[in-house]
Amino acid sequence: MTQNAPAEPAALKVAVLGAGTVGTEVLRLLSQQGTELTQRIGAPLEVIGVAVRDADRDRGEHVPAELLTTDATALVREADLVVELMGGIEPARSLLLEAMAQGASVVTANKALLAQEGAALYEAADVHGVDLYFEAAVAGAIPLVRPVRESLAGDRIQRVLGIVNGTTNFILDAMSRTGASFEDALATAQELGYAEADPTADVEGHDAAAKASILASLAFHSRVRLADVHCEGITQVRAQDIAAAARMGRTIKLLSIVERIPGEAGERISARVYPALIPQNHPLASVSEAYNAVFIEADAAGSLMFYGQGAGGSPTASAVLGDLVSAARARVFGGVGPRESRYAELGLIPLDELRSAFYISLTVQDRPGVLAEIATTLSGHGISISTIHQELLEEGEAISADGDHDPRGGGDLPQAHIGITTHRALESAMTASLDVFSATSTVLAIDSVLRIEGE
Ligand code: NAP
Repeated sequence: MTQNAPAEPAALKVAVLGAGTVGTEVLRLLSQQGTELTQRIGAPLEVIGVAVRDADRDRGEHVPAELLTTDATALVREADLVVELMGGIEPARSLLLEAMAQGASVVTANKALLAQEGAALYEAADVHGVDLYFEAAVAGAIPLVRPVRESLAGDRIQRVLGIVNGTTNFILDAMSRTGASFEDALATAQELGYAEADPTADVEGHDAAAKASILASLAFHSRVRLADVHCEGITQVRAQDIAAAARMGRTIKLLSIVERIPGEAGERISARVYPALIPQNHPLASVSEAYNAVFIEADAAGSLMFYGQGAGGSPTASAVLGDLVSAARARVFGGVGPRESRYAELGLIPLDELRSAFYISLTVQDRPGVLAEIATTLSGHGISISTIHQELLEEGEAISADGDHDPRGGGDLPQAHIGITTHRALESAMTASLDVFSATSTVLAIDSVLRIEGE
């Protein structure tokens, strides 16, 4: 009796939602690497449809016109695996919930959706016994989600600190290299395709905050929502701040920081995004252009650094494909991927209770006793000064009599710009000191307040 050859495993039906920057690259890799992917998974992947808004537009050789559909809901109902690359909250959220309800595992690159609706998505994955993967949602091609939720699952992560937004890093890097203003560096980033026409999500820090909320949730086994992340963007960073930082041997980067903070009330989580001065010899200072880099500090592993391309069609598609292979293998060989781990449920520590070192830049009346007044205000709030230096005035720059900055000149008050760095102090103390400065006639303008990190 001859033995029958093993049956060819059935193809897994894949629905791709979105054929933009990332979706197109995912489809290219799926078609170019189909044979190898089949071998790695143990079954072929069959793309059964690609949902878009405009099904009539030609999308190149890797997105066959016959696969395009505007009926995403019908498409997800037919799929074993759904890859969401549309972005935004709706209809992405409803489509993923529908897909999971129908028994499909899902892969998404949508950080905004996870940061806002992560709880509902995790719950649906649990209820329906399917997988939810999202490596591409944090720092594009750089493996971070898998290391944090799987490789370091036996360790205790203390802190994750990094640059997770390429657009803002490109802008700050350009400002540092050329002395350009924020506005000019943003325009260059837009011309070169590093910033979107509406750059709000990047430059206001919302994108980095969404990633911080995802990383904090995974690292600390707690649910950290987008609204829990303190978020400041880079729109207020001035060319003068970057120049002052350089004179002090520092550079300015938009940092995402999530960490455990011990205290009398027990351990709590801090999750924050803001531009900060870091020493020029800090490894993050040399992260240039649109690159991302992230440090993870864990009790047993020590410090780990991850570096690479945090965005772009092809790098992001690499992370999406990695997730797709994992979800597909589980279909072929059984088992489920990692579930949500939130047993710790640590509380959030308000920013006011944190301690930071600060750099503040003030425009002040240029008369004897002013520095003493400022130092007295700061020390009265428990803030100790590290350095004070007079900053140079731009040519023709002056302060108008009402205290507003008048870059065209014309003010006649003698005035000076001073830059102060402080030792670590409570955020609430700095806020109170700034309130005093705002109310005095000595300080004509508070030009910048930035934190100093990495020292
Ligand atoms: P994109 O270029 O704007 O593409 C979005 C795609 O989704 C388009 O094909 C669009 O259709 C389709 N789409 C949007 N709304 C739809 C709707 N209501 N119904 C049907 N189709 C719809 O976006 P992307 O840059 O590829 O980003 C996709 C996701 O990946 C986002 O969540 C983003 O945050 C994430 N991500 C992107 C990057 C990156 O570098 N781009 C990096 C990491 C993560 P039309 O083409 O017909 O308009």
